[in-house]
Amino acid sequence: MSAAQRYDAIMVGGGFYGCIIALYLARRRGFSRILLLEQESELLARASFHNQARIHGGYHYPRSLTTALRSRINLPRFMSDWPQAVVQNLTMLYAVARQNSKVTARQYERFCREVGAPLSAAPGHLSGLFTPQLVEAVFLAEEHVFNAMALRKWASEELQSAGVTLRLGTRAHGLRRAPGGGMTLTLNGPPGAEVHAPYVFNCSYAGLNGLSGDFPRISTPLKHELTEMTLLEVPNVLRDVGITMMDGPFFSLMPFPARGLHTLSHVRYTPHHSWQDDATTDPYEALRHYDRHSRGSRMLRDASRYLPMLASARQQDSLFEIKTVLVKNEGDDGRPILFERHETAPGCYSILGGKIDNVYDVLEKLEHEHFDLRTSA
Ligand SMILES: Cc1cc2nc3c(=O)[nH]c(=O)nc-3n(C[C@H](O)[C@H](O)[C@H](O)COP(=O)(O)OP(=O)(O)OC[C@H]3O[C@@H](n4cnc5c(N)ncnc54)[C@H](O)[C@@H]3O)c2cc1C
Repeated sequence: MSAAQRYDAIMVGGGFYGCIIALYLARRRGFSRILLLEQESELLARASFHNQARIHGGYHYPRSLTTALRSRINLPRFMSDWPQAVVQNLTMLYAVARQNSKVTARQYERFCREVGAPLSAAPGHLSGLFTPQLVEAVFLAEEHVFNAMALRKWASEELQSAGVTLRLGTRAHGLRRAPGGGMTLTLNGPPGAEVHAPYVFNCSYAGLNGLSGDFPRISTPLKHELTEMTLLEVPNVLRDVGITMMDGPFFSLMPFPARGLHTLSHVRYTPHHSWQDDATTDPYEALRHYDRHSRGSRMLRDASRYLPMLASARQQDSLFEIKTVLVKNEGDDGRPILFERHETAPGCYSILGGKIDNVYDVLEKLEHEHFDLRTSA
């Protein structure tokens, strides 16, 4: 194997997590030869772009105190690390539905107080936008969104300045333990295309179990959802407003700065279907072959019952993406990280971030890892 194909670490996946971990290894842990593989033609092209852009401040998680509290810790760090990507000064409303909500307005207020998330009653001109028969209370929250385009630009500039080698349009297929130590990854492209490193970081989100060969599957059960968020042009009054209806089969309407529109997601209609991860279905292929018949009008119709003004919003497009979550969080909606160090493939880590700001939880884990680079020369 030629010297050019040997690295200190190989990242599989150029989403937010793969990029941040590559930069951490380069800048903080003395890795000098890092290769980042991304199957798409640009960075942050999948879940890190196709999401609701919410920088979580805990408000979303009345059923998972741990996730809410971690969000409170990570939020200020994210705000100060990526000010260029954070869109502030938005009016963020959390409303509590009268029926079918898992919290009442009073319980929700208490929860926000407990986790230290600032909350106040929304003024009349905002609460008046909602249907009083269906909505018990409307609150103002301090929450922000991020611009995925700004994060993508930042990531590509930083990776270049840190000397990380980037291979876009390159998919890792298989992993095998190399006889002399370390791991070899087979790639798409010319037959025999291979790269080798003592450390492999599998940050491939929906593709976490997609490597063949000696890759041990993730031991934590995963669930994939094929999701749709519809992109709306909203009436002027809602232009700088985000709305989340708590806590049940409802909707969220969030500014989506990367496209200058709003995303509308709906608990009932956004997941078109879901399945437990298994060896037979490649989630990316499942999405590629999906007919993408939009449910946007159904989302809009239901959300307009609570917020009548939405009826005049115009559907512009939809974002379809695979959302991967841990099966164990189905009931509480918590979004912890998954961090697995594979015993049978030493030096190989698999990492899944439930949400963007959780990346700090991964970095904390990595701080405790010992890396020995003497063998990679
Ligand atoms: C519909 C939806 C809404 C969401 N809303 C929010 C929100 O409002 N706020 C929030 O914080 N989080 C949200 N999330 C979660 C958030 O998007 C993810 O936690 C985060 O983007 C995960 O980052 P990642 O880098 O692990 O994944 P990705 O960005 O998906 O990166 C993984 C990359 O790996 C690449 N890849 C996969 N397999 C291979 C392979 N074999 N070889 C090479 N490349 C490969 C993929 O192409 C992809 O680019 C949402 C997610 C979805 C889907």
